[in-house]
Amino acid sequence: MVGGGQLARMSAPAAVALGVRLAVLAENADDSAAQVVPATSIGSHLDAAAVRAFARGVHVLTFDHEHVPTDLLHELEDAGHAVRPGPDALVHAQDKALMRARLATLDVPMPRWALVSTPDELAAFADGVDGGEGVDGVGWPVVLKTTRGGYDGKGVHLVTSLDDAVGLLAPARAAGVPLLAEEAVDFRRELAAVVARSPSGQAAAWPVVATTQLDGVCREVIAPAPDLDDGLAVEATAIALRIAGELGVVGVLAVELFEVPGLDGAPSRVLVNELAMRPHNSGHWSIDGAVTSQFEQHLRAVLDLPLGDPRARAAWTVMVNVLGGDHPDLYRSYLHVMARDPGVKVHLYGKGVRPGRKIGHVTVCTDDPHGLDDALARARHAADFIRGVIDE
Ligand code: ADP
Repeated sequence: MVGGGQLARMSAPAAVALGVRLAVLAENADDSAAQVVPATSIGSHLDAAAVRAFARGVHVLTFDHEHVPTDLLHELEDAGHAVRPGPDALVHAQDKALMRARLATLDVPMPRWALVSTPDELAAFADGVDGGEGVDGVGWPVVLKTTRGGYDGKGVHLVTSLDDAVGLLAPARAAGVPLLAEEAVDFRRELAAVVARSPSGQAAAWPVVATTQLDGVCREVIAPAPDLDDGLAVEATAIALRIAGELGVVGVLAVELFEVPGLDGAPSRVLVNELAMRPHNSGHWSIDGAVTSQFEQHLRAVLDLPLGDPRARAAWTVMVNVLGGDHPDLYRSYLHVMARDPGVKVHLYGKGVRPGRKIGHVTVCTDDPHGLDDALARARHAADFIRGVIDE
């Protein structure tokens, strides 16, 4: 696995159980996964020689992030390495413009979008084009995104006017890379449909989950999404499975979606926001809450083993991320958190505490169909306490 973050770290227990040797290419010896994976090589995913050498020592190459250059992955594939997911699929998780263009050819429902380089192009997208045919604009505000390199909302900007956008457009134009402009979707909530696909074409889908983002960072996930219409759940799952098949994804595919209320009593719809081709934050609940975790499933998929049962083990599973706060010592809170609620499962990533950084998550499962609010309160309390925002 290229990348030594928490996704590689959480893959380690799954590899141990499967009896599979996991090797990691991490940038630093104290990276999250490097601390727990003996077969760690130190090197950058941007250093072609380091990635080539790493690839020579493994049977299958997979990823904990999307940042390995596409050209390098093509080179490795051409040299006979098993790259999973392959670069032709992965590029759609690396480049939001390519993703939008490809999904448009598949008629996947999406926010209205355009690539813009100049204030005039952005004005035409937002305000519309006058004249004969007249194209309707999406109106303001508009969401502007860098097409490559963004994560956790970095590179995503809500702009309310052309003046607001000038400072973003100028550097993009200088670099010769357009920005992705999208209508600002007035969504009811965000959902994620997480699926896995193997090279043999077998696929498995976890229940559709509800996700909450704050400042672009995932904070909470509820599995399954509460009160989700059955038809919409099937539609979201079908969209994710179709994207996985059409793009030839191997491994876990997370499809982030907006749930949009229908107009005038029409049923709700889903629009695709974003793709990730690796285990994803919206699937962390599956470690404690599903028969097969996303980490085990990703390994089974990239190794072309039969996939595991993705069903939930509990009526509700809630996952709350622990973000860095002011307390660098997380362990001191264990006594309280664990004694207060033995049902809370704590997962810490061994990362240094920086304000706002994802450093762990907690999970609570309940079999009580009416127990969602209680499970959420318990998980939030534990996450807040570990972070240090409450100290009773
Ligand atoms: P990243 O790749 O950095 O995670 P995303 O494209 O997933 O960026 O956007 C991050 C968050 O910004 C989303 O989860 C959502 O809350 C918000 N967002 C993104 N695009 C839109 C949009 N078109 N309309 C409304 N909100 C959006």
